[in-house]
Amino acid sequence: MADAPRGSNFLTDIIDADLAAGRNGGRVVTRFPPEPNGHLHLGHAKSILLNFGLAARYRGRVHLRFDDTNPETEETEYVEGIQADVRWLAGEWSALHYASDWFERMYGCAERLIREGKAYVDSQPQEAIREQRGDFGRPGVAGPFRDRPAAESLDLFRRMRAGEFPDGACVLRARIDMAHPNVLLRDPLLYRIRHAHHHRTGDAWCIYPMYDYAHPLEDAFEGVTHSICTLEFESNRELYDWVLDALGPWEPRPRQHEFARLAVGYTVLSKRKLLQLVNERRVAGWDDPRMPTLAGMRRRGITPEALRDFAERIGVAKNNSVVDIGKLEFSIRADLEGRCPRGLAVLDPLPVTVTTWPADRVEEIEIPWWPAEPGRGGRKVPFGRELLVEREDFALEPPEGWRRLAPGREVRLAGAWRLRCDEVVRGPSGEVAGLRCSHDPSSPRPDPGDRQRVSGTLHWVHAGRSRPAEVRLYDRLFAAEQPDAAEDFLSALNPASLAVARGARVEPALAEARAGDRFQFLRQGWFFADPVDSRPGAPVFNRTITLKDAWARPAVRAEPPRPAKARAPAPAAAPPGGGRTRSDDERIAADPVLAAFHRQAMAAHGHAASVARWLLNDLLGLARERSLDTLPLSAAGFGRFVALVDAGRLTPAAGKTLLADLVTRGGEPEERMRELGLERVGDRSAVAAAVDRALAAQAPEVARYRAGEKKLLGVLLGAAMRQAQGAADAALVRELLLERLG
Ligand code: ATP
Ligand code: MG
Repeated sequence: MADAPRGSNFLTDIIDADLAAGRNGGRVVTRFPPEPNGHLHLGHAKSILLNFGLAARYRGRVHLRFDDTNPETEETEYVEGIQADVRWLAGEWSALHYASDWFERMYGCAERLIREGKAYVDSQPQEAIREQRGDFGRPGVAGPFRDRPAAESLDLFRRMRAGEFPDGACVLRARIDMAHPNVLLRDPLLYRIRHAHHHRTGDAWCIYPMYDYAHPLEDAFEGVTHSICTLEFESNRELYDWVLDALGPWEPRPRQHEFARLAVGYTVLSKRKLLQLVNERRVAGWDDPRMPTLAGMRRRGITPEALRDFAERIGVAKNNSVVDIGKLEFSIRADLEGRCPRGLAVLDPLPVTVTTWPADRVEEIEIPWWPAEPGRGGRKVPFGRELLVEREDFALEPPEGWRRLAPGREVRLAGAWRLRCDEVVRGPSGEVAGLRCSHDPSSPRPDPGDRQRVSGTLHWVHAGRSRPAEVRLYDRLFAAEQPDAAEDFLSALNPASLAVARGARVEPALAEARAGDRFQFLRQGWFFADPVDSRPGAPVFNRTITLKDAWARPAVRAEPPRPAKARAPAPAAAPPGGGRTRSDDERIAADPVLAAFHRQAMAAHGHAASVARWLLNDLLGLARERSLDTLPLSAAGFGRFVALVDAGRLTPAAGKTLLADLVTRGGEPEERMRELGLERVGDRSAVAAAVDRALAAQAPEVARYRAGEKKLLGVLLGAAMRQAQGAADAALVRELLLERLG
């Protein structure tokens, strides 16, 4: 199991509080529940690291569970791939489960619900059921089978299982409340008929449980304590609780908690879309190094450590946002910087004749590996009269500040001597076909790892003694930051996401690389010997990442930025912040739906900048794949919401909570704010009262804090913020709390 991540978040606060209250007998059991209908991606990595990390932190258990309740799309190939991916990223799980192992027990629970009057068989077609359910503004109505007696439902349900009916002929529904404010609780479906072959249970079943029924039961059967899922399931939580309450008691009783789904710029994280890329052969497969799948990232040379670092940096939040891909790239560079020896490779060779060197002499220069590693000696690099340098390291008419080759200019060759360009050799049509240079045998030979001298130092190889290698230059798969925002995400593909350097030559030591070896190619980037296509003595190198972020330069041209090659081997100094790619105005203007929504919201609240900020930073994330015009929150309502925040009637944190609610349920912002108790508690005495309530409820923790367990401050602060419903300034809460704790 992976190391426990440091730092707390709202989930650790919840678990701390559960432990403090003695819930679940002090146990912490989490699970990662993939559906085996595709391979895992970066979003899953976040969920895996979170669940495995919490289990490690609390010395609990974490289950890997295949949520295989949908026979049509699931395959054994995925089951195996997912296990390999999870093991690679996070290590071993405490237990392996399959939802399908519980089918019999789930079925038994369903019979119990029927006997107890909590479920019935509905024989209406899907459309009628959907129509009767109503929607946000329209209460549902009971269908004709709602009062079907238990004995009749039980008989029908057994016959459903026995295969007497075709698909869609009837369903099992919970009997809850057709007027429930939460549409999901208006007699939801529990079982449906599917005459389909299941990858594990074969043809044993022709009825399959629905997610909302199966998931809580899987958690309960396995003894999971904290069932962590993404925010879209927030309104399903009520149904989760209904199922467990109807079928309990359970020990432990699992609880569902939601966190923000990971979305990253310049990529898509949806199995459906990734599958489309594979099926339409836009990429070479699930493990194409450009794919954001774990298999693809592994094959590109990204390490689990880099992904863990990334996950820790972005943390766990309760509001959706798009993470700058630069943060991921920062973590990758920081990780590779320390672990890869630097080798010499020329991707686009330009011949150089060293006229001062004898024609028949080849000297094996000893160059140490850098960074140095105990047990790894140096390597010999052949130097001779005929060399190759990078074509782009020569300029006929050098621009100002050029520190590379040009007529009459002198440079250093990494690990070797100084070299001066005396003459340019022209090809048949006048192109630069080679250089004639002279070397300075008295010049010191700098170590290629020596950062001080690296500027003005070029990489090179010997023409005859270097070896050919296939080098694949990968770049971002998409050229647009939000491919999902385009009508067709495929139109956002980056046509230059793969270039193959066909004439590349590498020093002999690199040609001996084994599959899975990593190197920094001096001045070029980090490379990984492809584990699939490399052959002994003939490695294929995948570029994991360039040395510097070639996309980060301000885009002054109208055309999309073209990734350029990196120049200097210095890693980025700090992780990039967000929002520097394009201004808010430009982003809104570029998308007609956004622009219209923004305009209408402005009619309700004229502050363009804050409307834009809430729109881009929060609303888009919350809307996820839904189009803005299908949300239960209108543009005008959104404008009124921003007005409330701007008027200081909500803290930004409470604003986020309110917005998430409005996006799910709709309603008038001001009313919902009051109903949810989110209005800012401004005056000191109200905040003080909340703090006092929290301290009273947490008496044992207060005592332990006073006895010296200072780390409990976080728990107490969290409790006080909850008492204030997130509607108070955290700084004021903290101040009053500290005052009371002495
Ligand atoms: P997709 O939308 O790509 O099909 P999914 O949610 O349907 O993903 P599952 O196999 O059901 O995929 O997901 C397994 C677990 O991974 C779930 O707990 C889910 O919440 C989590 N997960 C999936 N995508 C993300 C993401 N982008 N960020 C964080 N967690 C995610
Ligand atoms: Mg899913």
